[in-house]
Amino acid sequence: MSETHVIHRHLHRLPPRAVGGRGIYLRDAAGRDYIDASGGAAVSCLGHGHPDVLAAMHAQIDRLAYAHTSFFTTEVAEELADQLVRTAPAGMSHAYFVSGGSEAVEAALKMARQYFVEIGQPQRSRFIARRQSYHGNTLGALAVGGNAWRRAQFAPLLIDVEHVAPCYPYREQRGDETPEQYGQRLARELDEAIVRIGADQVIAFVAETVGGATAGVLTPVPGYFKAVREVCDRHGVLLILDEVMCGMGRTGTLHACEQDGVVPDLMTIAKGLGGGYQPIGAVLAQGRIVEAMSAGSGFFQHGHTYLGHPVACAAALAVQRVIERDGLLARVRVAGEHLGGSLRQALGDHPHVGDIRGRGLFWGVELVSERAGKTPFDPERKLHARIKAEAFARGLLVYPMGGTVDGRYGDHVLLAPPFVSTDAQLDTIVGRLQDALQAAL
Ligand code: PLP
Repeated sequence: MSETHVIHRHLHRLPPRAVGGRGIYLRDAAGRDYIDASGGAAVSCLGHGHPDVLAAMHAQIDRLAYAHTSFFTTEVAEELADQLVRTAPAGMSHAYFVSGGSEAVEAALKMARQYFVEIGQPQRSRFIARRQSYHGNTLGALAVGGNAWRRAQFAPLLIDVEHVAPCYPYREQRGDETPEQYGQRLARELDEAIVRIGADQVIAFVAETVGGATAGVLTPVPGYFKAVREVCDRHGVLLILDEVMCGMGRTGTLHACEQDGVVPDLMTIAKGLGGGYQPIGAVLAQGRIVEAMSAGSGFFQHGHTYLGHPVACAAALAVQRVIERDGLLARVRVAGEHLGGSLRQALGDHPHVGDIRGRGLFWGVELVSERAGKTPFDPERKLHARIKAEAFARGLLVYPMGGTVDGRYGDHVLLAPPFVSTDAQLDTIVGRLQDALQAAL
């Protein structure tokens, strides 16, 4: 145990102290600068120390730091909801504000369940989600998540969730299938799972639009989510899209699902919503779900002390206004092309790089011990941890993930740099990653 009273993620070593952040850089107490190329975990979309966000937070603290939502609403929460609904996919008319991604997923699961209770279908009690997914670490979110390593020791505490295949073309699309046929096959698998459980028993299908924390950026094949949406509609099952990591501009549109031509019933957002300036997440809901709760019990049976925290809402509102004012979604699309090109140029022929995939400024590199067989490295080697350490030593923060416990999928590195990164900075990120990989392999 190290000399600290904080319970850190790793109990046997004390991480360096972060003392400052400006733009795409973080600085530690020894004066070393790091490029924040994963934005924490795809959090820091505007970089650090953005003056407009800081000013909005200061102004809100001066006005009102906190008021409990059982007594009050606030101007800033109303304005943020207006902003999010104005820019949301069709029919998403309301926002529910929480403190982060896991809380957003918990709230979405409960809202979906309550919706069916309110409309007279209380027998619906089951969720279907995907293997190789991540939805957060609270018990409900962990239960729908498909990360075997994170779930393992808590398994007896988790609700029973059916897990179907992720959309993972690099590993699971068959040689005789087009991407479209593969997507249709996955939708049929979902259909079969719903029928097996009993269509009138299922509340919702839960999926990350673009898989992130467990699978190193899984971009869906064309038509997959449209087919999934059709299956859900046919059975009266809700579609919950988790855009905690891939949403709020990260993929080049405000919501990743815009590029897949689907509108969910509930959508979770967090991370880039507040850009790390404050902890905040939200559930965006279709009007009919909120209307059902309103016409029924008249309240949503949920609640946390910090719902709609004014300073968090002020930070998020400022972040979203900067993104809009500065045309940053367009910048993400252009910068994403540049980053993807740069990664492919530097690593495309590398004998241990199996796949490079991404959308917008959200990229994953999957590592293999041997390319032809797509063989993952032995998980015991903890390659992802070595890459993280080598990158850190070179002043680069990346988000690495290990392979699955059953050894089926390999190690990944995820990149999610701030939207304000320049092309030259993106090239520096790729250069340092290339060096880190070389040193770690
Ligand atoms: N959902 C997704 C898709 C995520 O990637 C994450 C975090 O990485 C979460 C939920 C949980 O969010 P948080 O860590 O803010 O609780």
